[in-house]
This record gives sequence, C-alpha cells and structure tokens, in this order.
Amino acid sequence: MKCNYHTHTTRCMHAEGSDESYVRAAVAAGFDVLGFSDHVPFPFVSGYMSGIRMPMSDLNNYLASVAALRVKYAGVLTVRTGFEAEYFPRYRDHLLRLKEMGTEYFVLGQHYADSEEENPYVGLECQTDDGVRRYADAVAAGIRSGLFAYVAHPDLLMRHRSPDRFNRACEEAADTICQAADEAGMPIEYNLLGLSLQRSGNDRGYPCRQFWQYVRRWRPRVIIGVDAHSPLLLRDAALWREGHDRVEALGFEIVDHLPMDDKTEEE
Ligand SMILES: [Zn+2]
Ligand SMILES: [Zn+2]
Repeated sequence: MKCNYHTHTTRCMHAEGSDESYVRAAVAAGFDVLGFSDHVPFPFVSGYMSGIRMPMSDLNNYLASVAALRVKYAGVLTVRTGFEAEYFPRYRDHLLRLKEMGTEYFVLGQHYADSEEENPYVGLECQTDDGVRRYADAVAAGIRSGLFAYVAHPDLLMRHRSPDRFNRACEEAADTICQAADEAGMPIEYNLLGLSLQRSGNDRGYPCRQFWQYVRRWRPRVIIGVDAHSPLLLRDAALWREGHDRVEALGFEIVDHLPMDDKTEEE
C-alpha cells in the first residue's frame, strides 16, 4: 500500500494549498491512504501564541474539513485524522481529549522540550550535547506515553549540526530513541521533506546519513513520511521512490501502513 500519514495544512502558517488540494494530489499520485497530521494546537496556559502551529480557534474547522474530505473521497482514498504533536507531559490531557474528539493518531514530532512556552526550538538546543540528551529523553518519554503512532524525523537533532558533529552524544541519543521505539514496537520516520530539501541544495540536516547508518544495529521498523507542507511534495514520485530506495539500501523493514480501528479502509 502507498500511505502517507504526515501531511500539513495552511493552519500551521507555514504550509500552502487548500486541504482538498492535498487530497487531489494524493489521488493523482496513487496513494491509498492520506493522513492529515497538522501541527497540533495547544491551549497554552500562559497565553503564549505559537507561530508554527494552528491556533486553538482552528481546531474545529480542521476536524470538520478532514471529516468532510473523508466522506467526499470515500472509495477513492482513505483519509485519516491526525496531528503531529510534541509530547508535553503537562498537556497530556489535552491530547487525550483530542482523541475523544475523533483524532485517530498522533505523530510524535518533538520540536520543543516541555513546553514550547519556555524553550527554544529543539534544533537550536541540539547544537550542544546537553541539548541532544534532553531531546532524546523527551522523544523517549513521548514514545513511552502510549499516545503516538510513530516518531517523525527522529534525526531532528542534526537540524543545526554539521554531519561531522554526529558524535558520541548523538549516538547515545539515537540509542535512547531506538531502544524506546523497539520496546514499543513503534516505527521511526524517514522524512521526505528533508530529503527533498537536500536534493535542492537546502540541506536541513536530516535525514542524516550518519544517524541512519548508526541505527542499523537496532534494525528499526521505518515508515516513510512525506511531511507535506505543499501538495507538490505528494506528487513527487521520484522523491517517494528515492526515499524507499534509500531505506531499503539500509536494510530496514518498511512499514507501509498503520493499522487503525475501523473498517473504512479499502484494503
Ligand atoms: Zn511544519
Ligand atoms: Zn511535520
């Protein structure tokens, strides 16, 4: 099956295209499943307004839009309802509430330590080895929380590190993440947005070759995530193929499909 569970919308303020344009792109590219996983809104108690995620005021129209597309394209494409979320222990109840509201899955994208209100972007924190350790511990806590379906861009720690700085601290971080994922039976993601940026000369540090070579010892189960912030990325068949080729060349088992509870899927 051709499935992508990592798809954004304009509500996060750094993506482009209508919700339906992502669905049309997925149909045109032959996907069986398209999961929307826009950056989750948090009801920050401090009143902090994030610049990289949908505001709480967009939550209901996001859920309604995805639900409408799911009905409209039934039989053509299975549309799934998800979010990309950090694991902020203090906002755990909020994520549980989103599940009660119909969220089918969360992708763990740990862009901040707990919580965004008080911490800089993880990519910046990970310029230091201490930051790398904090990142890995936060990801492992997220994995163990039982709330998430898979780990997005686990090699985010290399966002602002040159590849030659994949040092012992980074190896230990990779071990921490892969061990937790292994114990939870959880896939980790090979990120195609990062790959597409590398191909266009705008390397953002991940996918990091050193990271993926290193984690071969864990034999991780790997899922391909388009991380579409534009419908064009879903249509890029060469990118999809290159991602698969790279993961297969590393010898990893590819998880092509996340099982979900209901029976709406066209198997
Ligand atoms: Zn994003
Ligand atoms: Zn994403």
